[in-house]
Amino acid sequence: MAETFAAARALIQENICSLEPETVDLLNLVGRVVAEEICAPWDLPRWDNSEMDGFAVKSADCHTFAKLKVVGYIPAGAAAEGISVATGTAVRIMTGAPIPIGCDAIVPIENTESDKESVTIKRPVQIGDYIRFCGSDINAGEVMISPGTILRPAEVNLLASFSRLEVLVHRCPRVAILSTGDELVAPGEAVGPGQIIDSNGYSLAAAVSEVGAIPILLGIARDNIGSLTEKIAQGLKADVFITSAGVSMGDLDLVCKVLDGAGVKQLFWKVDIKPGRPTAFGLKDGCAVFSLPGNPVSSMIAFEELVRPALLKMMGQTKVFKPFVKAALTKPLYNETGRVRFLRVRVVESSTGLIAESAGDQNTGILSTMIRANAIAVLPADRTEFVAGEEVDIHLLNPEHVLDAGSAKVGNS
Ligand code: AMP
Ligand code: MG
Repeated sequence: MAETFAAARALIQENICSLEPETVDLLNLVGRVVAEEICAPWDLPRWDNSEMDGFAVKSADCHTFAKLKVVGYIPAGAAAEGISVATGTAVRIMTGAPIPIGCDAIVPIENTESDKESVTIKRPVQIGDYIRFCGSDINAGEVMISPGTILRPAEVNLLASFSRLEVLVHRCPRVAILSTGDELVAPGEAVGPGQIIDSNGYSLAAAVSEVGAIPILLGIARDNIGSLTEKIAQGLKADVFITSAGVSMGDLDLVCKVLDGAGVKQLFWKVDIKPGRPTAFGLKDGCAVFSLPGNPVSSMIAFEELVRPALLKMMGQTKVFKPFVKAALTKPLYNETGRVRFLRVRVVESSTGLIAESAGDQNTGILSTMIRANAIAVLPADRTEFVAGEEVDIHLLNPEHVLDAGSAKVGNS
């Protein structure tokens, strides 16, 4: 019996967990998920410092057009020791330099006129002006990054600010990828009659890399027990093992049989989705095994909808399912499959919001429709008719690929 789409996703998520932490250096942290609580070891800023190039003054001295004697200079990187601001004096100071004793405000250079000996203040000054106070950003001991945080350049900046050279993050899964089929030849090899170039291995490796996991290409297994047994033994050493093809009803569809023989406990064999029905999921020790259909479009969509969220969970992420966005259909659609239907669509930004038009022939043999598509429309299994203008659930393949207002119009036929 086939699992529903929702049940298949739930079964996968329940049966995998985030991988153990590893230490990673500052340069390789972006996109990784933190596995420790990181507290600030000191205040940020570490000391009171100037927010502007200008003059350190006593605010009480600074009535408009006050003239002060310049008694010193503190460039960025210099210490303020031995320099102080007495009544009637000012110290020239650069952005980031420490505030000298006696100073309670900074006057930006653009609000002054000065020569070597003196400075005239042209605007009123308030106590505290343009001083970045010690700890005003982050206090020593404060939790600045919590477990589960996905690191972005901003967090990397913060870590570098505190000289954190290494962080504990969840390990990325090593994902073994196996193409199966007697008809397959590797890209670059001579193609004989009836032979097909193994494109799935590479598109799955690309999809794995895009998520941030580590692909390991195992090449091609032939449709016989010996070849499959050998390659499957290799694949089961990885954290995740993805096979393509050999899982439908053909005489030579032996993948699940050999996985069974290798001790993989299958949690499901089929999912009520189109495309992607013959997708199986199983477990062997620490390895999650996904057997995807051979058809390139089906394998890519099954990866997107079922495997990708699993890899994200293993990498420590908690929001692993792509959020749906809504887009209005440009034409009526039918889903008479009784399964969740994934349609390859083009989502276009229009004046009324997002609209979705079919990316072309939805036959799963048509790869070019996948190329034209920037999103997948997810139609529920329990409805058959969808009218033009109706908003449906959309998974954007890449949010940055949403197209600008183009030819598509709601209700266009
Ligand atoms: P199967 O599931 O073995 O019946 O394969 C379904 C279809 O996908 C067949 O037309 C295969 O030739 C094709 N196919 C299988 N594996 C690959 C692959 N690695 N790359 C491209 N096409 C494939
Ligand atoms: Mg086959």
